[in-house]
Amino acid sequence: MGDEKCRHEDLEFLGGQRTEGGENLYFRCKRCGDVLIILPGGKSGYIVRGVKPNAPQ
Ligand SMILES: [Zn+2]
Repeated sequence: MGDEKCRHEDLEFLGGQRTEGGENLYFRCKRCGDVLIILPGGKSGYIVRGVKPNAPQ
């Protein structure tokens, strides 16, 4: 529960989920609990549970 932004460097692999475009990979950040989703093709995915009420800007 720190104020500084988490870089999500300490990730735990949760698993994959097959989609029509390939496979999504799910990782959870051990530090903040956010879940990162890596899309097929190695594209940087998106983050869920990253909503913070007092986010800067
Ligand atoms: Zn994090």
